[in-house]
Amino acid sequence: MKGSEKRDIRAMSREDLRAFFVSVGEKAFRGNQVYEWLWQKGAHSFSDMTNLSLELRQHLDTHFTINHIAVDKMQRSKDGTVKNAVKLHDGLVVESVLIPAENRTTACVSSQVGCSLDCRFCATARLKRMRNLNADEIYDQVMVIDRQSRLYFNRPLSNIVFMGMGEPLMNYPNVMKAIDKITSPDGLGMSPKRITVSTSGVPKIIRKMANEQPRFRLAVSLHSAIEETRTSIMPFNSTFPLKDLRQAVSYWYEKTKSRVTYEYVVWKGINDGPEDIEALLDFCKAAPCKVNLIEYNPIEGGEFQQASDSAVENYIRHLEAAGITVTVRRSRGKDIDAACGQLANKETA
Ligand code: SAH
Repeated sequence: MKGSEKRDIRAMSREDLRAFFVSVGEKAFRGNQVYEWLWQKGAHSFSDMTNLSLELRQHLDTHFTINHIAVDKMQRSKDGTVKNAVKLHDGLVVESVLIPAENRTTACVSSQVGCSLDCRFCATARLKRMRNLNADEIYDQVMVIDRQSRLYFNRPLSNIVFMGMGEPLMNYPNVMKAIDKITSPDGLGMSPKRITVSTSGVPKIIRKMANEQPRFRLAVSLHSAIEETRTSIMPFNSTFPLKDLRQAVSYWYEKTKSRVTYEYVVWKGINDGPEDIEALLDFCKAAPCKVNLIEYNPIEGGEFQQASDSAVENYIRHLEAAGITVTVRRSRGKDIDAACGQLANKETA
């Protein structure tokens, strides 16, 4: 049988696998064993499945393939950050990043190859969107990083952020499927509270998601609460205006009672004035929230510049005075282009 005629065994549910084994005269529980090999132990080959007989492993190998992603290139930053260029079955490449901290490890995963949005400060935007990742390709990035976390830091992965390449809400069904599997006891069994979906802000999908009563966290890349300014740096804002985003965010809180985090970079001459802070304070009234001030990571040929420390401190002072929690996120993995907005397949292009 030619390779191309083999079925991808990972497209089969646990029930499909159980039924398959019964159809070849085996016990149904063999289906559970294979499912565990595929989804919990991350087996890439039937020969790894040592609790099956040799004959059974060979039988599976004749009829099925295991389509999985492969780490094409791995880079380690001097701060411990690991960037993986991950090759998909069709040869396209996405990047996923492992970010170690004192007592946790975070995986930053991609949801699309490239991105359809056009944020002017982001390197991924220049790649354009090539395709959506399927749920398994998202899940596999998490598995790869979980394994690396155990290997390099002696602990399992603790957090996941959808802040890699792509806009997760433009690939909503697959992102949800992947999260289901990541949180399921059948998969990695991670707590949804440790997962953050980050979006540029697609109001309709935020509402849809809120209706499904999710237990993961939501982050919105706001960057400006002034309509014209936001449109000038994130042109798609003209399609999804701030007033709709504001309503969607308050709907999210109403339904989930979970505070939204606004991601915000302060740039020199763009959003570093008092009117920008005032607009943000007003936007924050939409629902209980936190603000995460992100350090700007320059991209090649980019025209943006990080604002001065005093401009950032101004933001912090005003937000804190209004009782809003503010965190400042320092960049990680800058030396290997692994920081926010720097993922652009540079090494593999
Ligand atoms: N599309 C999603 C997720 C990917 S971007 C979103 O927009 O949220 C992850 C975060 O990095 C976003 O907050 C984004 O605005 C930010 N970002 C993009 N380019 C950046 C850069 N050059 N420096 C710092 N942050 C950047």
